Amino acid sequence: MPVSLYPKSRRSFLKTGSLATLSSAFALQAQDAAPWYALMSDTHIDADPMKEARGAVMGDNLRAVVDEILKEPTKPEFALINGDCAYLKGLKEDYATLRPLVQPLLDAGVPVHLTMGNHDDRGPFFELFPEANADAETVKDRHITVIESKDANWILIDTLQIVNNVTGEIGQEQREWISATIDDLGDKPVILVGHHYLQPMPEGATERISGLADTAEFMGILESKPQIKAYIYGHSHSYGFKEVSGGIHLINQPPVAYVFNQSRPNGWLRAELSGDSLSLKLNTLDKAHELSGDTKMLSWR
Ligand SMILES: [Zn+2]
Repeated sequence: MPVSLYPKSRRSFLKTGSLATLSSAFALQAQDAAPWYALMSDTHIDADPMKEARGAVMGDNLRAVVDEILKEPTKPEFALINGDCAYLKGLKEDYATLRPLVQPLLDAGVPVHLTMGNHDDRGPFFELFPEANADAETVKDRHITVIESKDANWILIDTLQIVNNVTGEIGQEQREWISATIDDLGDKPVILVGHHYLQPMPEGATERISGLADTAEFMGILESKPQIKAYIYGHSHSYGFKEVSGGIHLINQPPVAYVFNQSRPNGWLRAELSGDSLSLKLNTLDKAHELSGDTKMLSWR
């Protein structure tokens, strides 16, 4: 299941109010400023904060991104790490190094939501973030996280199938949960968030599945729920945009950690929502990258 970390000062709100109440209370602090969201993915933090892979020092990258997020003129409504929080095997030692790297966000009053990627492991994660476990247990059998905001409901899903195996899966139970939750939430736009990408397979194909093993079933949900406007994922370490039938936007986040193709950017996305669109600005770690500042406005009906 996805996990949510809340700043200490705001945890007391949780006991009395819904997340919607929490969001609006927080928005008041920023007065007229438009609410925005800091989207990160694939941080791949190893136990060793100086660990280097493919030319990137992952601890330094995450520290730089968190620093940039906190230097924006206003604070985001929340920050997200969309899976592969840990380097390869989701070790307890990896999360021990991750924890102080995200702490500045919590100290600044910014909630941090994390989804599980194929390089994460739920057990060790909860050992290092016991307060997330306590919150999770207040909703029995919770498989997904719903974050209500003014213009959309964000739904965070868990696509981790087997630790350190590339394939992802949502699973029948979680798919049913997603459908039922969207029906319950009414007409407000829904933005889905999960680690793995879609991988449609022709009938009888036998190639390796590196995306969602249940892509066809998930696409059935995407196509049958008009509230769903976008699916945001990481995993490929390659920033980009696509659309699937029905005009649903597929948003591939850049990694905070290394890229597999050195020409691709790493960094984070600054998201702003309106009633009928989502704007995404790419903040690259390499400020000289040709895509630095790239901004996409994705609209829907
Ligand atoms: Zn990754």
